[in-house]
Amino acid sequence: MSEVEELKNRLEKKEINVWNVTNRDSVFEFAETYKTFLSVCKTEREVVRYVVNEFGRRKTVADFMLNNRDKSVALVRVGKGIGMRLIASHIDSPRIDIKQSPLFEDIGIALFHTHYYGGIKKYQWLNIPVAIHGIVVKGGGEKIEVVIGEDDSDPVFVIPDLLPHLSHKVIDKKNVKEAFDGDKMNLVVGSVPLCDSEEVDLVKLNVLKMLNEKYGIVEEDLITAELEVVPALKPRDLGFDRSMIAAYGQDDRICAFASLEAFFSVAAPGQTTVVLMVDKEEIGSEGNTSAQSRFVHDIAVEILKRKGMPTDNASVGEFFVNSYALSADVNGAVNPMYKDVHEKDNASYLNRGVVLTKFTGSGGKYSASDANVEYMARIRSIFNEEGIVWQTGELGKVDEGGGGTIAKFIANLNIETIDCGPALISMHSPYEVSSKADLYETYRAYCAFFKRL
Ligand code: MN
Ligand code: MN
Repeated sequence: MSEVEELKNRLEKKEINVWNVTNRDSVFEFAETYKTFLSVCKTEREVVRYVVNEFGRRKTVADFMLNNRDKSVALVRVGKGIGMRLIASHIDSPRIDIKQSPLFEDIGIALFHTHYYGGIKKYQWLNIPVAIHGIVVKGGGEKIEVVIGEDDSDPVFVIPDLLPHLSHKVIDKKNVKEAFDGDKMNLVVGSVPLCDSEEVDLVKLNVLKMLNEKYGIVEEDLITAELEVVPALKPRDLGFDRSMIAAYGQDDRICAFASLEAFFSVAAPGQTTVVLMVDKEEIGSEGNTSAQSRFVHDIAVEILKRKGMPTDNASVGEFFVNSYALSADVNGAVNPMYKDVHEKDNASYLNRGVVLTKFTGSGGKYSASDANVEYMARIRSIFNEEGIVWQTGELGKVDEGGGGTIAKFIANLNIETIDCGPALISMHSPYEVSSKADLYETYRAYCAFFKRL
């Protein structure tokens, strides 16, 4: 071996492609369960229901579950020591919400008004098949579940774009941010009038009649409905080699799924382990189902109670300072067509394993939770000792843009926290791209965190 080779071997950081070192059969097998999970979990409520079912099915390993309003959930296994080992993800994804007074008729077409949720590129949601998921709460409190557009026999819905022949002035000449008006993102829901009559709005009335027949609801019930428009697309294998998954909602359900599986896989973790899934990350983590709610505090209190320990402020504080967290969220993988928005040495790549993101934020680390390197080094050692393929990555070049996660809200509780999850291509699109190898490596990383820290 030449001196150069020897020094390179000994000193330089290695870049590893997960596929070259992993058990490919395990990777493909794990991805199948993930696709099933994604196909039935397109909203935060659906993820919580999935977790509740898994808790019932596999509860020998979970001591208790806290369900916060069917929109955020925690599974806890009480162990030794003070504090907890927490993996926290978010289960809301960018989407289009239906407004509270949605239904109207215009030139014989019935439409729903919408208000988009989270950071979307509006044009990606036009003229794709979408489904409606959610609940309607009737005056008496009865909850009606709605899922329409998923079954092959169901109708779907569409937010119509303008034909290219006529879009020259009103869309094409504008910059993309201004070209697509959120208020024009109305969903087509019908076009048949109830009957031949001089009365107006008979298409709208026909839709109301059908909603009443199917769900027993009247127009005012829609005011107390949470209906979410999501892509009516099934998770699919991507590529000749089936190495990737294209699916909606992988930010951040890929981390939610990997953490759930890790929680159930680690047989005897020793320390108290917690998997937490929260809502509202995509709109700033505000409100009582978000990472900023008192829910995390209440989890700590419940753990302390079950251990027969005091739950006063000082004890909860001691609990948090002895806790360690992974903010399980995705990073933006380099897209080969847009490499320029990244700085290559600090970007994350598909198939290079789970990403440890020291800080997020934007414009001079503004709004970032900047993880302490002492903690980051502990995670690094554990991953290396367990043979986890990992990389580090920043979300884009300095001054290019950026984004946030729930890390800062967990860290604000005085818990050591670092972002850790796979990198996706086309994040926030209706059909995001992940690597099956990275998914499996993320699961292995979360197992290592529970087992070793
Ligand atoms: Mn996210
Ligand atoms: Mn996001």
